[in-house]
Amino acid sequence: MDHQRMAANLGDAEAIPSASQIAASYFPGLGSQNETWMRAEIQRLLDHWFDWRRDLFPQDRRIAAAAPPADPVARHLITERLDELARALTAETPTHTPRYIGHMKAEVSLPALFGWLAAMLHNPNNTSREASRVGAVIESEAIAMLAQLLGYDPSKAEGHFTSGGTVANFEAVWRARYRLDHWLSLGLHLSEKTGWPLDVFACAHMGWGRFGELRREHGLDDQTLRRCSAAAGNPTDVYRRISRAAGRDYLGPVLLVAGNKHYSWLKAANVFGLGEEALWSIALDGEGRLDVADLDRLIKRARGDGRPVLMAVAVAGTTETCEIDPVHTVHDLLERWEREQGLHIWRHVDAAYGGFLAGIVGGPDEATLSPGSATALGALGRADSLTIDPHKLGYVPYACGAFLTRDRARYAVSGFDAPYLDRSELGPDKWSSTLEGSRSAAGAAAIWLTGKALGFGPEGLGALLAQSVRSAREFAGAVMTAHDDVRVLTPIDANIVCFSLGRQGEPLSSANRRTGALFDAIHASPDLSVSKTTLGEGYRRLIDRHAEGFSALLDEQRLVLIRCVFMNPYLSQPEARSRLFNEFGRMVRLLADATH
Ligand SMILES: *Cc1c(COP(=O)(O)O)cnc(C)c1O
Repeated sequence: MDHQRMAANLGDAEAIPSASQIAASYFPGLGSQNETWMRAEIQRLLDHWFDWRRDLFPQDRRIAAAAPPADPVARHLITERLDELARALTAETPTHTPRYIGHMKAEVSLPALFGWLAAMLHNPNNTSREASRVGAVIESEAIAMLAQLLGYDPSKAEGHFTSGGTVANFEAVWRARYRLDHWLSLGLHLSEKTGWPLDVFACAHMGWGRFGELRREHGLDDQTLRRCSAAAGNPTDVYRRISRAAGRDYLGPVLLVAGNKHYSWLKAANVFGLGEEALWSIALDGEGRLDVADLDRLIKRARGDGRPVLMAVAVAGTTETCEIDPVHTVHDLLERWEREQGLHIWRHVDAAYGGFLAGIVGGPDEATLSPGSATALGALGRADSLTIDPHKLGYVPYACGAFLTRDRARYAVSGFDAPYLDRSELGPDKWSSTLEGSRSAAGAAAIWLTGKALGFGPEGLGALLAQSVRSAREFAGAVMTAHDDVRVLTPIDANIVCFSLGRQGEPLSSANRRTGALFDAIHASPDLSVSKTTLGEGYRRLIDRHAEGFSALLDEQRLVLIRCVFMNPYLSQPEARSRLFNEFGRMVRLLADATH
């Protein structure tokens, strides 16, 4: 996309299109201004598709001509029911308007919609290149675009599209478990052979380098290691043998995830059979972000307990409040463990929500982010693996998440064959290395077209997202001046604003009740949609700090918040912000007085 040309056409002196220009050109338009153009594009897509079908096998025209015409009754039935469906859907939550600031959802972009529709018409199954000649290639190219955005070397990174962030996170656990299982299997084998006591923690984190050396030195083949693998063999038997070799009960690996984690991590602990006990929460600091000193403490505790660390997870853009964990200091810490102790711990960043914010970094809008957030987002590429959700800040239709690894070795998962060797036998097919089997190419095509037509960097989507952060801050100012009791949760790392009510000296339980009542009152109005969240025990330090702001009596350890997500593209128009933020302020002023 020639941004300079676009900006020049729009009569703007700046070379980079503004966020409101992007909103106007890359979305349907709040007043459906792009309706005529959209209809023409969709018509053109259908033209391409019908031409292709008609011309493909000319020798079959006679067969086609002999087919009976559509049965008028069936046609009538479909038309009627389709009308019924279309009418029913008009009652759907209107998330395209900037009056909807409830959840992580807004209008999808035009390139995403067109790309999605184009792929849908052909409906390839990206499970293999045979079933998807073009879709699979588009997927590889789209993954390379996301890799570039996230700071991976696109020529080395691997990945695929998933149904969402939940499955992408599962993909990471699957790979981390596979790697750890290999290393520990080798340790167990050597210990059983030599009678040396097994150091579970050291073996489980030995690294591929050491693994390769030991394997060569002892001439171990895959069959031998398989017999020591909890993944390939019988886990109960293998755990029992590990206990015997280590001279203490082996309780299995732990998963270290910050206390601000998404629910999907709890699901992962269940699905992978770790048990919820194995999910160790990393403490949060007073700003609600991962406390790196506590991560270090937990790793030491795991080592002391003889339990490997399956992976350490930081979050870039938490689901509740969009806090951005200090990803860079997490990497610093774990790289130090690697360098000084030779212990390799899998590092995953759950950037399901915040990943696209990396497109702001390095451009003219970088200062929109706090220096800490910008550095954290700039460090995403140091992770072993990443989750990003195009169906959130990528403005792509559901269901579209993505999972990426830094390189091919980290991506390997199927079979027990050594992944540190060249896995060319894996071929380009994905079926053996994705949790999901059949997969759509539509999300990949949506990202592909967005990347080609808009781009994810500071001159493209990044500019729109930078404005979303500014809009969030502007809203925070507006709602704070609306009523004396409004307490905005700080810091605001990106485009989610949370606030509560709280009178000076009021018990927290009462403030929570009033905030809940305010939410119910807003919720009862059809004009504006917000969401509500309750921060619990994990956020103790943040809750304390927030409550201190109005000298609250801390009579309970939870904080009820009204949550507003500012991803709607049309809020980049100043007119939309001033009108809607004023309306919201008036509503809060009226309703807050009525709460008790
Ligand atoms: C949304 C989200 C997920 C889960 O993604 P789905 O697409 O809903 O499966 C995981 N982690 C974080 C941080 C999220 O915001």
